This record gives sequence, C-alpha cells and structure tokens, in this order.
Amino acid sequence: MIPLLHELADQLAAHDDAALRRTRRVVDTPCGPEAIVDGRAMLAFASNDYLGLAGHPALADAASEGAKRWGVGAGASHLVSGHTSIHEELEQRLAAFVQMDAALAFCTGYMANIAVMPALLSRGDAIFADRLNHASLIDGAQLARADMHRYPHGDVDSLARLLEKTPTRRRMIVTDSVFSMDGDVAPLANLLELAERFDAWLLVDDAHGFGVLGPQGRGALAEAGLRSDRLILMGTLGKAAGVAGAFVAGAATLVEWLKQKSRAYIFTTAAPPLLAHTLMAALDLIEQGDALRAQLDALRRRLHDGVRLTRWRLLPSRTAIQPIVIGDNAETMQVARQLWDEGIWAPAIRPPTVPAGTARLRISLSAGHTEAHLDRLLEALHRCEAARA
Ligand SMILES: *Cc1c(COP(=O)(O)O)cnc(C)c1O
Repeated sequence: MIPLLHELADQLAAHDDAALRRTRRVVDTPCGPEAIVDGRAMLAFASNDYLGLAGHPALADAASEGAKRWGVGAGASHLVSGHTSIHEELEQRLAAFVQMDAALAFCTGYMANIAVMPALLSRGDAIFADRLNHASLIDGAQLARADMHRYPHGDVDSLARLLEKTPTRRRMIVTDSVFSMDGDVAPLANLLELAERFDAWLLVDDAHGFGVLGPQGRGALAEAGLRSDRLILMGTLGKAAGVAGAFVAGAATLVEWLKQKSRAYIFTTAAPPLLAHTLMAALDLIEQGDALRAQLDALRRRLHDGVRLTRWRLLPSRTAIQPIVIGDNAETMQVARQLWDEGIWAPAIRPPTVPAGTARLRISLSAGHTEAHLDRLLEALHRCEAARA
C-alpha cells in the first residue's frame, strides 16, 4: 500500500476503535415511511421528507413531463447558457411565495450557504452565529474569512453583548430557523430587532421550516410575520418540498449582488430544468397542503400525548423534528439497534453532531406517517426503555 493510503487506513481503523465509523444504509424503495432498507422491510422515521412529497406520484409525473419538455441537463452554468425560462419562473414563484422581493435558485442548500457569506463579508467583518447552526453555515463563514463569534444556543442577551463589544464595518447574524437536531425554533423576532439595532444582516436558514411552518407553509419568517430588507432567507427544496435544490431570497439589490458575486452560484452547472419543472408542482402541493401540515401536527400531538418515558426525554419541539435524548453514546446506539431489530429506523445522533452527554434518537415525522405507524413507534420505545430499567 502506498504510504498516503496507509495513513488513511490507520485513521479509519482509529475511527472504528472509537465507534465513530459511519455506514450508509441502502434503501431500495422511494423515500417514504415504509421502506426496504438493507433488504429488510422497515418503518422509517429518518428522512426530512416532512410532507411526504419525495415519493409523491404527481411529482414523479411532473419530473417525467419536465424531462420530456426540457431534456435532462442544463448544459452550463446560469450566467453562461444554462438559465432556462423554467428556472426563471421558479425563482419568481419562490420569491412571491416567501413574500420577498427576489430569489436566486441554487443546486443545493449546502451551496447556497457557502455562497452567501463570502459574497457579502470579508476579512475584518464579523459573523455572529448560534452555536447549534448547521455545518454548511459554519463552512460558509470560514470561506468568508470574517471573524466568527458564536453565541450560546438561542441566547439573545449574549448575542446583544457580543454585538455591543464588537465594532466592525459589516456584521451578519446567522441562524437556523428550526434547529436540525433539536427541532426548536430560533427567536427570530428578537434576532431581527438586534440586526436592526446593530445595523447587521440577518441570515435565516429555513431548511426545516420551509413548507412546514407559516401560512401555506411559507416558512418560519412568514410564521413570525417578519419583513425587512436586512433579512436573507435561505430555503431548501430537498426536504419538505421533496425534490432537490435551494434558494436565497431577499431584497432585489441583494439578490442581484449574489448573482454577480456568489462563486457557488457562478461556477457550477445549473440544476436540471426538469427539477425546476418538478418544483413548480411541489409548490402547488405545498400551497394546497394544509391537510398535510394538519396530519403532521396530529402525529406530533399523538407522540407527545402518548409518550411515557421515565429515563429518556422527548424534547418539547413543535416541529417535525422530535428528538429523544438518551444521553449516553453507547446506550443510544444500543437503543437504535434494538429499534432496528424491531423494524423501526430511528437514527442515533452522537457527539460531535450534538453536545457531549446528549446523544439522542432523531425521530422525524412526515405527513406520510399514519397514526398506526406512530403507535408502533411508541410501543417499541416503551419496550426498549423498560428493557433497560
Ligand atoms: C439540510 C440542510 C442544509 C443543506 O441543504 P441541502 O439542500 O441538503 O444541501 C442546510 N441547512 C440546514 C439547516 C439543513 O438541515
């Protein structure tokens, strides 16, 4: 083995020793609650397909229609020749949907998040980030080379103190709207007040709010009734929207600037136009999706009303993300394993993804789940906990 590979193999072995090696489950069915995973029939609480749209037949039809109308690839980046009328339509529709002046479509949420900060900030500027923000926001901040100040999760007073003692030219507050491992919602109105007081941008990553929160699923900012030219909204289209991609929305001048300056927008091939075509149909389903959101709500209430845990703790989340904190890493892995053996797929999340001592199951609910699915989960959880008492 060449020394370069030898070094990697040693480090992978160390990963194994620390029980940190991650493996991929192979799924053989469209995304949905009932799945064939590694050859077994499973009940899944693992995806971010909150409205159950990823495997929706109407969207599969829209995708094949889109392929017939547009072919498969865009052929080039947006600024060269890959920007089609359906991309254009999608951007306008997204902007109107989230009630912002303009929107710019990206291939993924990760790319949108590494695009925004470097386009607006540079050395000597400052980013103020919630400690539990998503990894892509951390990577975006690093690319911007601005000074990074992390504030304790959701702690508006600490953030205010940090802003007070950090005089810089340009500042940006950056937060998830719904935190991906906790399911709680950021204090968005307070954050916007601070952005106004300290003349800062407020970048909100609505990956887990778009499609789920707010009237017609318009997202966390619409739910909070917040409008401001300081707001930069990032929404993803591969979670509740069930397809793929992302967008950044805000003031028209901001969006034009991002179009001119975002490297992750400029130097990549445009997403296939068939996806934009499919997303137009997904937005129809989201807009008309009150029944789906009501189902999600009913499932969440059934979970909270029915849960009887004594040692583990279901966090008080009002979103589709419903974590059960077990604490110990090894115990969490054993519980996930036992659930798996019972045919239930609920991912175990360990440090460093979550703080030490708070290893958890990340249960995610979807409108595709039935009450019977939820009851199966509850019974299995209760059995698992009782077996460990
Ligand atoms: C999933 C996620 C992203 C990345 O979005 P993709 O479209 O999957 O690349 C960004 N931010 C948060 C909070 C996410 O959960």
